[in-house]
This record gives sequence, structure tokens and C-alpha cells, in this order.
Amino acid sequence: MNLSAFMPEFRSRTPRVLVIDDSELIHRLLRTRLQLEQMEIHCAADAKAGHELARTLQPEVILLDIDLDGTDGFELLARLKEDAATHDIAVIFISANCETMDRVRCLDLGAIDFIAKPFEIAELKARLRSAIRIQTLLRMLAQRAQLDGLTALWNRSYFEQRLNAEFSEARRHGRALSLVMCDIDHFKSVNDRYGHPFGDEVLAQFAQILGTSRASDVPCRYGGEEFGIILPNTVLAEATEVAERIRAAFEAHRWRRYPDLVLTASFGIAEVTNMLHLTGEPTKDLLVSRADQALYAAKRAGRNRVSNEPLPMVA
Ligand code: GH3
Ligand code: MG
Ligand code: MG
Repeated sequence: MNLSAFMPEFRSRTPRVLVIDDSELIHRLLRTRLQLEQMEIHCAADAKAGHELARTLQPEVILLDIDLDGTDGFELLARLKEDAATHDIAVIFISANCETMDRVRCLDLGAIDFIAKPFEIAELKARLRSAIRIQTLLRMLAQRAQLDGLTALWNRSYFEQRLNAEFSEARRHGRALSLVMCDIDHFKSVNDRYGHPFGDEVLAQFAQILGTSRASDVPCRYGGEEFGIILPNTVLAEATEVAERIRAAFEAHRWRRYPDLVLTASFGIAEVTNMLHLTGEPTKDLLVSRADQALYAAKRAGRNRVSNEPLPMVA
């Protein structure tokens, strides 16, 4: 399976460097001297603009001047490190003030390197390249840790994190958010009859079908032969259509080694705006448990079907 399809854009894009320095001269100098490098140079002249740009650009590296007008660079570094959206970005300090204590303090605060002004452009380039290389690898590793090894879908840890984020977003803007939970039918007997390696092949094939869903849908391996699809901005009826398409595609799949074999899966769906009539504030965990209940209802009703009706709560 093609892992790169799941990687974010930073793997294929040109690395970005954000220069935060109050000197226009430094902006111009760096833009000119680094223009032949494999990196995009962006500049900000003060701490506020720098922090904003860091959030939206997600650069690999920030070159930060300690002696900024208004705020000092240490203060901005502390803010960048506190902000979840910027705390993983590599920061290299630049300063004319090279006291040992300053160097120690900036490394202690989380900067990865320190360059003295006036700098040798060759040294600056080499340090930037090295920081970009490390940063790209770290981002790839973080990404890999959230991918499931067998199916190359997002794993459970990513599922929880993403569902949390989408749930808050949907509640804040009053938007729909659907969750589809799916589970392969009688999968234990597939393993028993055809062997575990074939079972793995079935899981990978199911994941492949989930992956051909709409680009905005987020298919994840929830665990074992159970999968969850997060569908932002999607009402129950649309989510039901998506699940029904997947159900039909999986049932129609012909297995190369066992042409007569028909495998199926069951689906349960819950949607956030459909939970608002319930007493109490809806939570992400309740969304999961309602989708699970609907899945259980689909299993009980005979499997190979989609249910968007949670069972009545058992007291
Ligand atoms: P139901 O229709 O009720 O869902 O029945 P089932 O047999 O699918 O459900 P059950 O939960 O009893 O069995 C799930 C099986 O999935 C048991 C477990 O060995 C198997 N399984 C879980 N993870 C993997 C995996 O990564 N590879 C393979 N081959 N099997 C797995
Ligand atoms: Mg099952
Ligand atoms: Mg199961």
C-alpha cells in the first residue's frame, strides 16, 4: 500500500524557513543569499507577526533574533514552545550578543542552535540544512507512529486525537459530524478456515476500500478487525450512503485465491447534531458508544448491513 498517500504535504513541499528579525536589512540579505538553496524564506519583523506566521506556515525552522524590538527573543521562544501549534518547530537563535549565559539560556529554553551575528553565510546555510534534515525526519517519525503497520490507515491513537479535534470543531460551529464504526463479519472463522495471513490480506483489502472513500473522510484502524471513519461536515443520511457504498464494495470483492468466497462487514453510524436532544452535554465518547451500539444492532439484525439507529439505552 502506498504510504505517501497518507503523509501530509510537508514531505513533498520545499522546506520553509521563517526569519523573525526587526532588521529589514537582514530580511533582504537572507532572501538574496539563500535564494539558490532548497528552501523558501519567509520574514516577519516583530514577535506578534512572527508567531502568527509560524502558526500558519508551519516552517521547518525559525531563525529568531534575540534582540527584537518590543519583545525579547527569549520571551517569543517561550511562547512558541508553549503553543501546541508551534512547539515542535526547530528554532535557531541569531544574536550579536554572544555571552555564554545567553547561549546556555536559549538552548535550555528549547532552541536547537545558536548563530552569532555577524554570521558567515556558508556556516548559516550548513546549519540551516542540518536543522531542516533533522526536522523533516522527526516529522516523518511522528507521522509513522500514527499509521497502522498492516493497513497503512491511521491508527487508534490518531483516531482518538482527530475525533477529539473534529468533535470540538463541530460543536463550536454547530456543524454535523458523523462517525462510522465497522467490523468484519465472522472474521474469526476466516482466520480459522483460511489462515491468519489470508486474514491479514482481508484486513488490508478492507482498508483499501475504506481509503477510496471521499477525500475529507478519515478512515482509521480502531483495533483488530474493527475500523472507524470520521466524516466531518457530514449528516447522518450522507454518512449512511458512504457506509452503504463501502459495504457493497466489500461484499462484491472477489478473492483471487478463493473465487467463491463472499465476505461482509457491518456498520454502525452516529452523528453529533442527532445527539443534541439527549440530556447532558454530548461528548466524543458518547458519539463512539452510540456508533458502537448501532454497529451492535446491525450485527444482531443479521450482519452485512448499515445501521444508524443506536439501540435504546439499557438502564
Ligand atoms: P462478528 O461477526 O460478531 O464480528 O464475529 P467475528 O468473528 O468477526 O468477531 P470476533 O471479535 O470474535 O473475532 C475477531 C477476530 O479478529 C479474532 C482475532 O483473532 C482476529 N484479528 C484481530 N486482529 C487481527 C489481525 O491483525 N490479523 C488477523 N488475521 N486477525 C486478526
Ligand atoms: Mg467481526
Ligand atoms: Mg470485532
